[in-house]
Amino acid sequence: MLSAAFTVSLAIKVQTPPTAVEWQRFVYGKSVEGRDLEAWETGQGTQTILVLGGIHGDEKNPVPFMKKWRAIAPCRPDQHLIFIECANPDGQNNQTRGNAHKVDLNRNFDADWSPEARAPRYFPGSKPLSEPESVALYELIKRTKPMRMMSIHGPLNCVNFDGPDCVELATEMSLACGVPVKSDIGYPTPGSLGRWCDASKIPLITLELTSEDFSTCWRRYQPALNVFLNFK
Ligand SMILES: [Zn+2]
Repeated sequence: MLSAAFTVSLAIKVQTPPTAVEWQRFVYGKSVEGRDLEAWETGQGTQTILVLGGIHGDEKNPVPFMKKWRAIAPCRPDQHLIFIECANPDGQNNQTRGNAHKVDLNRNFDADWSPEARAPRYFPGSKPLSEPESVALYELIKRTKPMRMMSIHGPLNCVNFDGPDCVELATEMSLACGVPVKSDIGYPTPGSLGRWCDASKIPLITLELTSEDFSTCWRRYQPALNVFLNFK
């Protein structure tokens, strides 16, 4: 029979939350308007996973979603996590889709890049990687060699994927949060980060949130996050 003291100490142990992960902030570049391009990393493992939000500055939930996720994300000993809460700080500050040059950074990558835009807000820049924000992200990915990535957008409410071996992961995430898997978002995306990851053989999940109130949005998608981090 357990002693009363042992029972109490066991109960306290069970209720203690897991130790918070310690993150190191680093700056991987500067925006057009001189803001820090800020990232956070944790873990000493060899499996690097890179997640970013806010590459489109006028989308409502991705940046707070990244902040909340980073506050609770676990990190396994074999992992090295890199979180970019806001990849387009000028756009976030100015509430524009593009950066301060009005370039859609998610059309500015060097894969199937096209000078044509389906609407002004998709302006892809004067050439691939013309913008400091996309160059800095490109160089960070080249340097850290993530085994998989996720980019968080809104408000299309789907799990989209590019690159190799992503269907199973996207399907598991979809089952966890009840959001449909889509292999494309219904229109071409030349020069997108996804096209570049596909060409670079880096699995990329694009998680499209809704624009509903933040707490409802968080509850809807949160079950998919550990599926993403712990996949294989
Ligand atoms: Zn977007």
